[in-house]
Amino acid sequence: MARTRPRAVVARSSRQIDPHARDDRAFTRRTRDRGVMELCAVRWSVARCAWTSRARGRRSCQHPRAALRYDAHPYLSAPSGDVDARALATEKSAVCFACSGDGGRVVCARDGGVAYASSETAAAALGVDFGDGDAALYVGRDASRGNRAVFVVRVREGDDGIRTVFGEGGMRDVKTASATFELADAAIVARGAALVAWRSKQKFCRRCGTPGPKVVAGGRKVTCGACGASEYPELMPCALALITCGNYVLLGRNKRWPKNFYSLLAGFVERSESLEACVAREALEEANIVVDPASVEYVACQPWPFPNQLMVGFKAAVPPERLGPLKMPPVPQTKDGELADARWFHVDYLASRLSPERAFSDPRSTDVDIPFGEIALPGEHALARVLVKNWVDEKVSYRRRRCDDRLVTTVVEGSFFTECTLSSGDDDQADAFVFDNLTESLQFVMVEVLLAQEGQAPVVIRAAPGDVSKIREDVIAEVERVGQGARAVAYVRATGRIKCKREMDGTQGIQVKMLSEVSDDGFDARAIVVAMLQKALPFYNFKFVDG
Ligand SMILES: [Zn+2]
Repeated sequence: MARTRPRAVVARSSRQIDPHARDDRAFTRRTRDRGVMELCAVRWSVARCAWTSRARGRRSCQHPRAALRYDAHPYLSAPSGDVDARALATEKSAVCFACSGDGGRVVCARDGGVAYASSETAAAALGVDFGDGDAALYVGRDASRGNRAVFVVRVREGDDGIRTVFGEGGMRDVKTASATFELADAAIVARGAALVAWRSKQKFCRRCGTPGPKVVAGGRKVTCGACGASEYPELMPCALALITCGNYVLLGRNKRWPKNFYSLLAGFVERSESLEACVAREALEEANIVVDPASVEYVACQPWPFPNQLMVGFKAAVPPERLGPLKMPPVPQTKDGELADARWFHVDYLASRLSPERAFSDPRSTDVDIPFGEIALPGEHALARVLVKNWVDEKVSYRRRRCDDRLVTTVVEGSFFTECTLSSGDDDQADAFVFDNLTESLQFVMVEVLLAQEGQAPVVIRAAPGDVSKIREDVIAEVERVGQGARAVAYVRATGRIKCKREMDGTQGIQVKMLSEVSDDGFDARAIVVAMLQKALPFYNFKFVDG
């Protein structure tokens, strides 16, 4: 069934190659020789991008070192069996640090590091009995500092003795402070604080209710003196999922989080549930996105002992939906769940936002307002950020290796989008900058490109200031250039104008005025304009206007 395709522009023969266009040469060589087959091959291989591929995934994925921040394994030798804490504390090198009674806060040194003191001093000045599991818990031997025994002591904030023993640094929130500790200290404090948090809840035997179960095994177990029941520190596994769809990743914002702060979807594992099923359930409950549990793959994990989680990181790919010739991720919906918002972010948008000079730090700890249109992710030490960053890096470098031409890189997705042009042709500027300072409107031209011998057509949209007929000429010229050998045909589907408008509530929207449009059964020009512009501008609302 032939669709109406008015205003066709047929690309000229493949002989017309500019020999000086250095960037084009490699691609031109390939396409000239193999024509459409090559374009098809490139398109399909991107769908099987290295990082998402089952075969290469684990090998090519860098070990997320930063995620190991709280992994005690390299720093602490675990105590085996029952230990005599009192005897350990009398060792000459034995040290301790101090936490609040619930394990939520830790005493820091003046320079922001952990305040260690010798256990001897603490015993003398604070009267700590290191054999009493209520006052002090054995954390382990610090393998990175001569195997010294390390204890955590429980102190009451404001106690004068703290300053005498640990100095003037003061108490800080464990989670916030650990993000800046040295790796070894972060792991040691995390374990100590988590043990204290657990111990603070063991006031009664859970079986018979007898008060004060006794701490044994160096703080790894409590045993009831009356009934003999034992309890161990519990661990809560939490599944964290990098859910992707082509070049998009799904991120969500919890209702309690500041504006523009997003992270991967995560949730606690229920009883009688696998981690993979947990990923699928969370995606469905929180964002109404269907994930096949069989497609969920383990990537890496991170201890998150604040107070007792283990973050287990997975990845899962969701099949796209068709929007005319485009493949787009299914639309997420947040209902009465934990999320205030869930949306897809294009890899190019995230790549520009994760650069060190542009990235915003976690606003939960800095109180910095993230401006509209920008995004903040969890800090460098969080597994969620590591997973997102590895995915973005892998996608970007794969496209660089694979393609020499920016236009070509986007052809392969089935929708090629000249994002660089959104920033007025300046590659170093990120897309949204144009809209930050937008005083005049941008004109845009959207063309559908048909490649001979291939059913699917990519779509190009170009937005730029200036004359719409000039933009149109440029786009068609680029389609011809890229499509050489593939015998590309470009149909102008829509032209129009976009303008940024600031709303009363501080949000910004894009007003779209269509100057011309050709829609038919399989091609909704307006929906496609919005879908493509949202790649670069995920936070903007789009509104069509007449005037
Ligand atoms: Zn009991």
